[in-house]
Amino acid sequence: MAELHYDVAVVGLGAMGAATLYQLAKRGVNVVGVDRFAPPHDQGSSHGDTRITRQAVGEGDAYAPLVRRAQQIWRELEAETGAELFEQCGVLVMTSSKTATSHHGTADFTERTLSQARRYGIEHEQLNAEQIRTRFPQFAPVLDNATGYFEPGGGYVRPERCIDSQLRLAQQLGAAVLTGVTVSQLDSTADGVTLSADGQTLRAKQVIVCAGMWSAELLGAPFDALLRVCRQKLYWFELAQPSIFPVPSPTFILAHGPTDEDLCYGFPPLAGENCIKIATEHYATATTPAQLNRDVSAEECAQMFASQLVGKLAGVLPNAVKTAVCSYTVTPDFNFIIDQHPHHPAVTVVSACSGHGFKHSAAIGEALAQQVVDGRSELDLSAFSLARFPAAVKPLL
Ligand SMILES: Cc1cc2nc3c(=O)[nH]c(=O)nc-3n(C[C@H](O)[C@H](O)[C@H](O)COP(=O)(O)OP(=O)(O)OC[C@H]3O[C@@H](n4cnc5c(N)ncnc54)[C@H](O)[C@@H]3O)c2cc1C
Repeated sequence: MAELHYDVAVVGLGAMGAATLYQLAKRGVNVVGVDRFAPPHDQGSSHGDTRITRQAVGEGDAYAPLVRRAQQIWRELEAETGAELFEQCGVLVMTSSKTATSHHGTADFTERTLSQARRYGIEHEQLNAEQIRTRFPQFAPVLDNATGYFEPGGGYVRPERCIDSQLRLAQQLGAAVLTGVTVSQLDSTADGVTLSADGQTLRAKQVIVCAGMWSAELLGAPFDALLRVCRQKLYWFELAQPSIFPVPSPTFILAHGPTDEDLCYGFPPLAGENCIKIATEHYATATTPAQLNRDVSAEECAQMFASQLVGKLAGVLPNAVKTAVCSYTVTPDFNFIIDQHPHHPAVTVVSACSGHGFKHSAAIGEALAQQVVDGRSELDLSAFSLARFPAAVKPLL
């Protein structure tokens, strides 16, 4: 079979890969994207209708410029394709707890979000418990000491549509796309990388790996020691009182106890639906892509309702009308890894986004394409370097 030669190969076409492929194609790069499935699909980390976007990013200052640029790109893509990608319904971040809280490894997430919004001049309101209850009656059960952060510029994006739009545009701009093709090996050569992919050989001067939860199995050390795949569950619970979520209702994050699992986040009903999507986060156990349990049991639905909705949210029934399983690929400090592979200089690794990557993906794709074409990106990605894990990144002997 003939070998296929490209300047850049993007492995994995989910959130990060679709954005990267599109931005490279836009710059006229001879690029191929490869995916083991046919994105957008429901096998990785980018499905389930909606993803929260917020301009103040409590996970850290390095993210604020990324999300700002990503929101601009979603609007540019909407103008170009006509697809509705970004619903700016606002976001409400709340802490309602007698104890300290944690989210994405960050203590006191609401306070961190507020403080970043003040420093970056992001439009927002700080709310007390009474103001939360009056403005948003669905959160009437919040404790008297609750604090809230409302950001009108936040909301949600539609992940499947974002991926689809970027892949379509990339192909219109000349990118090659191979779906249903799994890359099983990357070998560095004098002039780039050889990719072994289901009996085909691809050669590229540079490879950008956006393989999500499959990253460690493709990349080996040190990623196998750094990345954990954590099973997450999404629930769509029926509404007893649809009127309690008037249009527009904000997306929300509610921290109500000390651990990352004492937290729920959710979305207002989509047009025509009488349910809200809600989830919590699980980090306690790790799994692998092959072993991932993709079913959500009735017991898990009941437990979700009891632990995250009863006494937290008003107007929701215990009936889960839909569920889905999705995965986080989590680093030890919950921050991203976007860096060169330490043993393969022509390979850049992107996809370890610890459960909060979608909102930034359009900007990350653009920054990576700028690095390829211009040798540097306008946005600074250095905070996501592997150097912060020196014990894991040992030279090969
Ligand atoms: C339940 C849940 C809720 C989330 N909520 C939010 C949120 O509200 N806001 C937010 O910003 N982020 C959120 N995130 C995080 C965000 O969705 C992810 O960070 C992001 O979607 C990850 O994108 P990715 O491109 O890294 O992975 P994926 O989208 O999974 O893409 C990886 C792709 O690589 C392909 N692939 C893998 N291995 C190979 C191979 N060897 N050869 C070829 N192809 C391969 C896969 O088929 C897949 O298409 C959430 C994640 C989950 C799971």
